[in-house]
Amino acid sequence: MRLYDTVNRAYKRSMLQLGKWQFESVINGTIRLDGGAMFGVVPKVLWSKSQNIDVKNRILLATRTLIARNVESERIVLVDTGTGSKWSDEDAERYGVESNPQAIDKVLEAMDASSAAVTDVIATHLHFDHCGGMVEWEGDAGGAVKVRFANARHWVHREHFAHACSPTLRDRASFLPVDFEWMNGDDRVGFVEGERPACDIPGVSFELSHGHTPFQLLPVFELGDGSELFFVGDMAPTGAHILPAWVMAYDLFPLKSVDERVSLIDRCKERDTIVAFPHDVRRGIVRLDVSGKKPKVGEVLCS
Ligand SMILES: [Zn+2]
Repeated sequence: MRLYDTVNRAYKRSMLQLGKWQFESVINGTIRLDGGAMFGVVPKVLWSKSQNIDVKNRILLATRTLIARNVESERIVLVDTGTGSKWSDEDAERYGVESNPQAIDKVLEAMDASSAAVTDVIATHLHFDHCGGMVEWEGDAGGAVKVRFANARHWVHREHFAHACSPTLRDRASFLPVDFEWMNGDDRVGFVEGERPACDIPGVSFELSHGHTPFQLLPVFELGDGSELFFVGDMAPTGAHILPAWVMAYDLFPLKSVDERVSLIDRCKERDTIVAFPHDVRRGIVRLDVSGKKPKVGEVLCS
């Protein structure tokens, strides 16, 4: 049984309600990436203990969409959309991609909503495993694309978009122009700007992260009473990556990634911060346990 089938059986469960928000972390597919690349300089003898490894040394990762519905404003916000449906068998095989974009629709249905009711889609960054589900083929594969959440405002940082359009030789394999080139000039796109980007979604603000890729846009949902839910994106893709030095070889600026994770842990010590991961196979939304010498995943609020 595939990972997302296991999780899909849980759709009927009640949503996680925190303050004025309802949350669900949906596994919209899975991907397999090289285990060494996912943990950088960390020896395999350490990271392999916690990972599902295949014969090609690839580890299993979920691709998750965070769905957040504000019960007051009725905004329905999606954070990241996964690999999407545009994969040929050959390309899917290379990355071990198994895509299940309908998982998002099933959760929206359970909320008595639909893809047309989604008001906001936040693209943390434009790597194919985070934004490929923003569009699908309109007709034949390889032809025109159509926007999947047609009525939603799509949020991305302007500087990150510029980077995605002119990536470095080192990271260009992570960007598939078909996923995002439609954004240029489309009035459904809200490019945010600067180091403190403004957000007009009530109860949401943005943090930026630059270690993994420049100008990654990470939403923070206010929950009331000083608590918050922070979608940490590829700043910390799984629970194993909250250790500051367990940085991916994919990261363009690894020392920045280390500093950003130290800041995340400090933030969890200072306030009541709940963390949502994009790639953990078993843990979508958690509290971090930062009481000991090493941070670890504490209570799992959404699997
Ligand atoms: Zn990424």
